[in-house]
Amino acid sequence: MEKQKKPSNSNISVQNPYVGFLLGILIVLFLNGLLFPNIGNNRILSTDYVSFIEKVDGGKVKNVVIKSNEIYFTVDEDGKNVVYKTGLTNDPQLVDRLLKADSPNESHKITFNQIVPKENSPILNFFLFWVLPGLIFYIIWRRTSKSIQARIGAGGNFMSIGNSGAKIYAESDIKTTFADVAGQDEAKETLTEIVDFLHNPAKYAEVGATLPKGALLVGPPGTGKTLIARAVAGEAKVPFFAISGSEFVQMFVGMGAAKVRDLFKQAGEKAPCIIFIDEIDAIGKRRDTGMGNDEREQTLNQLLTEMDGFDGQKGVVILAATNRPESLDKALLRPGRFDRRVQMELPDLEGRKAILAVHLQKVKHDDIDMDIVARATAGSSGAELANIVNEAALRAVRMGRKYVTTSDLEESVETVLAGAQKKNAVLSADEKKLVAYHEIGHALVAAMQTHSAPVHKITIIPRTSGALGYTMQVDSGEHFLLDRNELFNRIVTLTGGRSAEEVVFGAVTTGASNDIEQATKLARAMVTRYGMSEKYDMMGLETVNNAYLGGDSSLACSAVTASDIDREVLRVIKDAHAKARDIITGHLDVMHKAASFLIEKETITGEEFMKIVRDAEK
Ligand code: ADP
Ligand code: MG
Ligand code: ZN
Repeated sequence: MEKQKKPSNSNISVQNPYVGFLLGILIVLFLNGLLFPNIGNNRILSTDYVSFIEKVDGGKVKNVVIKSNEIYFTVDEDGKNVVYKTGLTNDPQLVDRLLKADSPNESHKITFNQIVPKENSPILNFFLFWVLPGLIFYIIWRRTSKSIQARIGAGGNFMSIGNSGAKIYAESDIKTTFADVAGQDEAKETLTEIVDFLHNPAKYAEVGATLPKGALLVGPPGTGKTLIARAVAGEAKVPFFAISGSEFVQMFVGMGAAKVRDLFKQAGEKAPCIIFIDEIDAIGKRRDTGMGNDEREQTLNQLLTEMDGFDGQKGVVILAATNRPESLDKALLRPGRFDRRVQMELPDLEGRKAILAVHLQKVKHDDIDMDIVARATAGSSGAELANIVNEAALRAVRMGRKYVTTSDLEESVETVLAGAQKKNAVLSADEKKLVAYHEIGHALVAAMQTHSAPVHKITIIPRTSGALGYTMQVDSGEHFLLDRNELFNRIVTLTGGRSAEEVVFGAVTTGASNDIEQATKLARAMVTRYGMSEKYDMMGLETVNNAYLGGDSSLACSAVTASDIDREVLRVIKDAHAKARDIITGHLDVMHKAASFLIEKETITGEEFMKIVRDAEK
C-alpha cells in the first residue's frame, strides 16, 4: 500500500498514534500545572480557621499570604517552619488581628500580604481553553484514523474512513501486440475495430457512430484473454488500466464502489485508454441469486452507473474477461455496456501450430515438426502450449544441448499432460508384465476398430501423475463432430486394458480406475446429452454448468428417470467391455508378441506396434 502523506497542518511529526495520544496527555498535565500552581512547598498542612486565629493570637505565625480564597501561613514549630493553609472566611477583623499579633522569633509584627489574582489575558484564555484542546483532539483523531487506514491496507478489519486507498495505475507503453496472440483470428478481427477507434476517436465521432463501450472476452482458462486485452492496448498505444474483479471486492462495504469511481475518474482523465477488468465474474455475478452480498452488489451497481455515465465518444474502452459468462448479471450484458462478446476458444490444429510457433520464437531450436506436436496436443490451451515449449527448452538444457528439438517437445507434451517420468519407481517383473498387457490391450483394441485414432506411442515408464503406463493415440486430423460409433469405439478402447488383464491373467487390478472414470463419463454423456440411446431418443437429461471450467453437469429429470439412466449407461459400458474382450481373445498371439516387445523396450512407437500387428495378421 502506498505511504500516506503527512498532515501538513500539524508540525508535530509523530510516527505512532499512541505517542500522539501520550503527547496529548502530557500537554493536558502541563496545562494543569499552569492553571493551578501550587505554592512550591510540598508539605502544606490543612487546618481550620479557628486554629489559624489561635495560632495568630498565640504569636506563633511568622507570615501570612492571603490568596483569593485561601490563606497560607507559616508557623514556627520548634525552630522549623511549617506551612499551613486554610480557607478564607469573610472575617472583617482579620487585618486587625494580624496587625496586632506578634511574630514569634522576631521582635516585630507578622508580615502579611494579599496576592492579587493574576488575570490571564483574554487572548491567552481563549487559546488555552478552546484552541489547544481542540488541536490536541484533532491530532489524536488524525493519528488514530490513519492507523486504522494503515491496518485496512494490511488486511485488518476496521471500519473504513477516507477514500478507496489503493490507487490503480495505468500502464503505458505496452509491448504486447496482436502478433503475440496466435490463432484467435475472429477475436482479433473484432478487436481491431476497437484499436482503430482508440487511434482515432474523432473519425467515429464525425459520422456519429458510437463504438461499443465494452467488450467481453469469453473462453476457457489459458486461451489468451488477458494476453489479447494487453495486445489491444499495445496495438492502440494507449494507457492500460488493468484490475482484477476480485480486487474490487473487499471486506469493507463501499470500498469496491469507491475504487470503481476512482478508476473511471482516472481513465476519463487519460482518455483515450483501456480499462481491463479481469475475471469480472467476481463482481458481475447475477444479483438475484438468493444470498446477497452487499459489497459485491454495490460495486456492480457502481460499475453499471459508471459505464452509463461516461461519454462513449471520448475514447475509453472497457474490456473484461471471464470464463463463466453464464453467471454474469444480465444488466452487464445489455446494449451500452458489455454488448460485444469476443469468443476465445481452445485452439484447433492450425491454431496450435501457430501458438507453438510464437512461443518457439523465444527459444533456440532446430527444425521442428510442428505437425506432430500440434496433433499430439489436441484440446490443449495456449497456456499449456506455452508451458510445453518451456518444458522442452528446460529439457534441452538438461540434455546439455543448445537448442530445442522435436523430441524435446514430444517428451514435454507427455510431461505436461501425464506428468514427468518417474525414474526411480521400480516395478516388479510381474507388475511390469501386467502393465504391459494392459497397455497393449488398449492399443490392440484401438487398432482393430475402424473409427479410432491411430496409436502413436505405448509406454510403461511410470509417470509422476500416478500413471504406470499409457497408450497415446493421436488423431490424424481435427474432429469437430463425433458419431455414435466413434464414441462407442472410444469406450471399447478404454475397456481394452482391463479386458487384457482378464483374458490373459484371469485377474483384475486397480490399474483401470482412470479408464473406468473416462468410460463412464463418455457413456453417460451419450445417454444424457447427445441423445444416443434408443430409449431416451433426443431427450436432454442433463445440463452443463461452467462449460469452460470442466463442465460439471446437473440432472434435469425426475429421480425415476435418473436411476433408469444409470441402467442405460451400464448397458453401453457392458456392451463395450464385451466387445473389447472379444477382440483380445481373438488376437492373443499378437497380444503376447507386442507385450513382450514392450516389456523389453519399455517405450514403443505406434509404427513398431502396427508392424507387429500386421506381421501377425499375415
Ligand atoms: P486467460 O487469460 O485466457 O486465462 P492468458 O491470457 O493469461 O489466458 O494466457 C496465459 C499465457 O498463455 C499467455 O501469457 C501466453 O503465453 C499463452 N497463450 C495463451 N493463448 C495464447 C495465444 N493465442 N497465442 C500465444 N500465446 C498464448
Ligand atoms: Mg486471464
Ligand atoms: Zn488403461
